[in-house]
Amino acid sequence: MNKLRDKISVDEQGYYGEFGGAYIPEMLYGNVEEIRKVYVSFWQDKAFKQEFDDLLKDFVGRPSPLYHAKRLSEKFKTNIYLKREDLNHTGSHKINNTIGQILLAKKLNKKRIIAETGAGQHGVATATVCALMGLECIVYMGSVDIERQAPNVSRMKMLGAEVRPALSGSKTLKDATNEAIRDWINNPLDTHYIIGSVVGPHPYPDMVAKFQSVISEEMKWQLKEKTGNENPDAIIACIGGGSNAAGAFYHYLNEKDVRLIAVEAAGHGIDSGESAATSVLGTKGVIHGSRTLLMQTEEGQIIEPYSISAGLDYPGIGPLHAHLIETKRAETYAATDKEALQAALEITRLEGIIPALETAHAFAVLHKISFNKADVVVLNVSGRGDKDLANYIKFIETNE
Ligand SMILES: *Cc1c(COP(=O)(O)O)cnc(C)c1O
Repeated sequence: MNKLRDKISVDEQGYYGEFGGAYIPEMLYGNVEEIRKVYVSFWQDKAFKQEFDDLLKDFVGRPSPLYHAKRLSEKFKTNIYLKREDLNHTGSHKINNTIGQILLAKKLNKKRIIAETGAGQHGVATATVCALMGLECIVYMGSVDIERQAPNVSRMKMLGAEVRPALSGSKTLKDATNEAIRDWINNPLDTHYIIGSVVGPHPYPDMVAKFQSVISEEMKWQLKEKTGNENPDAIIACIGGGSNAAGAFYHYLNEKDVRLIAVEAAGHGIDSGESAATSVLGTKGVIHGSRTLLMQTEEGQIIEPYSISAGLDYPGIGPLHAHLIETKRAETYAATDKEALQAALEITRLEGIIPALETAHAFAVLHKISFNKADVVVLNVSGRGDKDLANYIKFIETNE
């Protein structure tokens, strides 16, 4: 019994330890229950698994390479491997999840798809699979994010999606999520909500983690091939809601000798009042359908998050990560806007890879942790930086 309990996985009610569950309005009960019933059997369904695997291979371009970054390794005196989710079709890990969920939506006979997006990567990935399957697509996006991630807004429009601005609160990811939930409550019958991270009511966190787990599934055989050992010493990933980290950690959750390192956005500094460092500043509460850690006042009002990176600008984290942090299975670090920008420039000029601003936060912790010379460290490159060029150029022009 205790052994079972020690194993990190979700229980029947959708809890990881004390985090998770499904805190939803009555109106959505039917939808969430319908998804819960289908998502488990999905993995035993051969036809689904075949279609999912085929699309990941031929449409997304998987497996994504595991690249030994030699100049970066030399600089930090250790062995750094980059898991290249940035090379996926549409430019980030988000497509792994949207492929899975669009197949689920088809199985549930849904004709209308809604999604929320921060950096726009999830919006683009959702608009892409909707085009692929010929389904209507509406993406909610904070009006601040619409401005700072303009290239992705254009891509969504090109793909035939409607982008609807969220104008409340900090006009970012949390507010877009509120709008999407409101839409779903009003259109429960024909609509599937494709949540973009390991957040939301059960079964979303577990379902999204499973769709993303292909990342660590590949890492195992790729590492075995390249280093002779399928376990690295550490895995580093940035965390907004936590889906790329969940995918990169998934098959290592119960391998205690593998350090799991999650990196949050510290914005202008953890104590500046303008940050998104949920694991440090967060307390237990309910946000967007699950009990987790979130940034809130003593009265339970959500504190508006801030990060230069639209994908990390969220006041909560997924319940799996809250559990990993609470039980000390995962370590957390935070990087400021400036540290992320510097790290992006550094990795670009060392390896010729322009990372997404989100991913740049993960690179920034290489300056905060010293690894041993013999260590094998995998850094999950969650996405590419095309969408962030305006920010990078501004940084270069003021610093060089
Ligand atoms: C969305 C996004 C993130 C943050 O989301 P997670 O669910 O925490 O992975 C990180 N990197 C990129 C490139 C993204 O698009």
